[in-house]
Amino acid sequence: MAILQEISRTTGSNGHGSSKNSSKIEQNLTRFFGSNVFSERTMKERLPKEIYVELSKTIQKGLTLTLDVANVVANAMKDWAIEKGATHYTHWFQPLTGKTAEKHDSFISPTADGGIIMEFSGKQLIKGEPDASSFPSGGLRATFEARGYTAWDCTSPAFLKEDGSGNVTLCIPTAFCSYTGEALDKKTPLLRSMEAISRQAVRVLKALGNKTTQKVTATVGPEQEYFLIDKKYYDQRIDLIASGRTLFGSPAPKGQELEDQYFGPIKDRISAFMKDLDTELWKMGVLAKTKHNEVAPAQFEMAPIFSTTNIAADHNQLVMETMQKVALRHDLVCLLHEKPFQGVNGSGKHNNWSLATDDGHNLLEPGITPHENEQFLIFLSALIIAVDKHSDKLRAGAANTGNDLRLGANEAPPAIISIFMGEELTEILEAIEKGKAAKSKGEHFLHIGVDSLPPLPKDNTDRNRTSPFAFTGNKFEFRMVPSSLSISGPNTVLNTIVSESLDEIATRLEKAKDINKEAATIVRDAMKKHGRVIFNGNNYSEDWVKEAKKRGLPNIRNTVDALAAMATEEAEKLFSKYKVLSKEEIHSRYEIYLEKYAKDINIEAQAAINMTRRLFIPAVICFTNSLAEAIGNLKAVSAPVSVQKELLTKISVLLDSASNKVADLETVTKKAQTTHEAKAKAIVYRDKVVIAMNDLRQDIDTLETLLPASKWPVPTYADMLFKF
Ligand code: ADP
Ligand code: MG
Repeated sequence: MAILQEISRTTGSNGHGSSKNSSKIEQNLTRFFGSNVFSERTMKERLPKEIYVELSKTIQKGLTLTLDVANVVANAMKDWAIEKGATHYTHWFQPLTGKTAEKHDSFISPTADGGIIMEFSGKQLIKGEPDASSFPSGGLRATFEARGYTAWDCTSPAFLKEDGSGNVTLCIPTAFCSYTGEALDKKTPLLRSMEAISRQAVRVLKALGNKTTQKVTATVGPEQEYFLIDKKYYDQRIDLIASGRTLFGSPAPKGQELEDQYFGPIKDRISAFMKDLDTELWKMGVLAKTKHNEVAPAQFEMAPIFSTTNIAADHNQLVMETMQKVALRHDLVCLLHEKPFQGVNGSGKHNNWSLATDDGHNLLEPGITPHENEQFLIFLSALIIAVDKHSDKLRAGAANTGNDLRLGANEAPPAIISIFMGEELTEILEAIEKGKAAKSKGEHFLHIGVDSLPPLPKDNTDRNRTSPFAFTGNKFEFRMVPSSLSISGPNTVLNTIVSESLDEIATRLEKAKDINKEAATIVRDAMKKHGRVIFNGNNYSEDWVKEAKKRGLPNIRNTVDALAAMATEEAEKLFSKYKVLSKEEIHSRYEIYLEKYAKDINIEAQAAINMTRRLFIPAVICFTNSLAEAIGNLKAVSAPVSVQKELLTKISVLLDSASNKVADLETVTKKAQTTHEAKAKAIVYRDKVVIAMNDLRQDIDTLETLLPASKWPVPTYADMLFKF
């Protein structure tokens, strides 16, 4: 706490002659950053040398920890945690709900003389056994063997979580499996996919003559978008509380058309929130880096510095959780929903992705030497092949109920997956495809690796913001990921599909007599067969939808259709071949995600019915009564009543219509509720309930524009989006 105060004091002052001051800030920050993480550095300080070496080896090589080592580590971890105020520990895991789960156990253990000691064993560190019967398993685990177990992912460091009441808990990032070893969570398949892609990428590098790289890691930097609104408005909106988005609301007089919010100056109240958020995240070792206003009013973004995929996924969960917690301290509510407000931009997560070798090279960094460029173009080809071949699976990985409202709505990428490569790179790839020199540059591309390539564009300044999958100089940015979703799913898919294309490329290179020639042929084949997935134009345009159709690129517009890509034999084969998900694991996920969709829409429908019956209809009736009364009174004194009458008629017609529509919504919701098979049920929700809800909304939103502001029973868009 003292450090915290010190930081706010020093960072808060704009002290003149501040070089002393700034070095103090730096000192404090570097000491403070990660202070709640049982990090490499802490382990090095606190563990006996041989144990530290053993643990590092285990982490690097992904081996299993021996109990002897685990015991020493656990004890050191416990001492460290207790010194920092922890009394409990938890195996922190990520069930298929998409949220995180934790059950807290205290360190206390009774002694013979009636006292206690604080204990934490290696066994407790490595493995936990939560009763898991209430987590979705999609039939993977019968309730009679409801136990699951959690296992420490020692590649993601343990950390301390502090809550508002001052409680400190030691959190051990864990995977969550059934007793028969099936993954019941999002972390396990992600870790498996990281192993798969490392194996295949190393094979490709070896075949290309690399003798040093032992491991390749998929790296991710997820940019997180979110909204903040005043809590007093949130508390009055059942739709926001129940479903995370507004189900009603006519547009505010001003939206985002002035484009004055994006990167605009940050209001003090928001700035205070952001500062608090950074502080909390830094303590837990999250590399919070960028913060700014986003496009929509009341919308913001936070981006961390990238890390390995599993840590990025763990940290993103912490980011979402911390945003929500910290917001409340400022009497704000953080909305992570993909589309909290109709008519203004929704939120997504830009998933920046690349591959890094253990000797420090980014495999998607264009090189300088012909050899480096050959390697770069090979990995680029692997991406082109994977994304084109499996765009349906990528789309499925980015599907959730909220994203259906966002994709293709001229604010986010369409539901069609294509790659933005930039003009220069595309030209090079096309020249290789055609097997001829690109005359304009006077260079030869035919034998890549032999003839020299022109320097590849280093920083792609022409960043196409409309592309769902954009090459941005040395990484790809997958922009379709929903703001509230765990990034584990999309990255599991991405890693797996790229594993497959790297596997095929490795096999070809390993068999080739002339590596350079084969490398060129691989790039050419990739372009010939899969070049259709490259599109550098405006993804928001109608023309692209037509053009994509001509090219045969799928346009999958909703979650139910998107999820179907994971229920095919092809998907089973792919994910089981790379040991990422077994057939059973895939099917259980398919069922769970379909059910989740149905539940989401059901909640929305219930909230819409509730608000209409209990808030809107009564408010409208009340107002029509007073209008009728006014008309009577006016008539008694022979005053004109035409305006009042006209308004009354208009409102009464809408009231009648809304009343019918809410009854229709109830009927179709009942029908959906009583449909049993998961897919059929989801389809009734999609095709009947969603439509009925939208119909009802039209009437209610029009009524909102006709009633006096003081008579409308819930806060309006103008309140929520502009009043802080
Ligand atoms: P933008 O202009 O799109 O906001 P930035 O260059 O600021 O993009 O980076 C966005 C995110 O990409 C950051 O989280 C950053 O750490 C991440 N990033 C940068 N390099 C890599 C990489 N090699 N692998 C994964 N993510 C990366
Ligand atoms: Mg970005």
